[in-house]
Amino acid sequence: MYSVKELFATLQGEGAHAGRAAVFCRFAGCNLWSGREEDRANAVCQFCDTDFVGTDGDGGGKFETALDLAAQIELAWQAAGGASYHRYVVFTGGEPLLQLDSELINALHALHFEIAIETNGTLPVPKGVDWVCVSPKAGSELVVLQADEMKLVVPQAGHDGLDQLLTRFERMDYRHRYIQPMDGPLRSENTAFAVRICQNRPLWRLSLQTHKWIGIR
Ligand code: SF4
Repeated sequence: MYSVKELFATLQGEGAHAGRAAVFCRFAGCNLWSGREEDRANAVCQFCDTDFVGTDGDGGGKFETALDLAAQIELAWQAAGGASYHRYVVFTGGEPLLQLDSELINALHALHFEIAIETNGTLPVPKGVDWVCVSPKAGSELVVLQADEMKLVVPQAGHDGLDQLLTRFERMDYRHRYIQPMDGPLRSENTAFAVRICQNRPLWRLSLQTHKWIGIR
């Protein structure tokens, strides 16, 4: 059984695949916060702006089998006019690695989907995922030390030693490293901060949430 908050076709807005057509499948649940406001102050991750509780979003629901969910992803891709090639699905959340398993990976590969995940990096990644993007959260233990992409949101409370953290991340085996400004009322200041980091540390590139600019999900 898979619990999906929402499932929709769009363009990937951030990171190395920005601009690419994708189906987004947002799993319900996260291991770093319950998603309930009353728990936020005591959560490991406290800056989340995503609703990942329940299965009541657009395209969301409970899917009994991997084949059922894979078929729904294919339907969403086709309904948006997606071609039969270069299919792409992004699993996000919440934390997608609480639910993504080899059955679902195999079912999607059988439908010729490339599979990406956006994870907080605290859980092991099953074999077969084609693109792993890790967004580390201050105060959590990172176990995914090798991946395609790191997307570090700044600033985060608890990032007191940000320079040392960046140095540590630069030594890890990530093909792409992105700094992404924290959204919210301080977005301009956070963007300026992120720009300075990229100028000072050229292994990092700026990632912007372009989907928000153009009003898509
Ligand atoms: S790890 Fe991601 S999904 Fe979980 S609470 Fe933090 S930002 Fe939200």
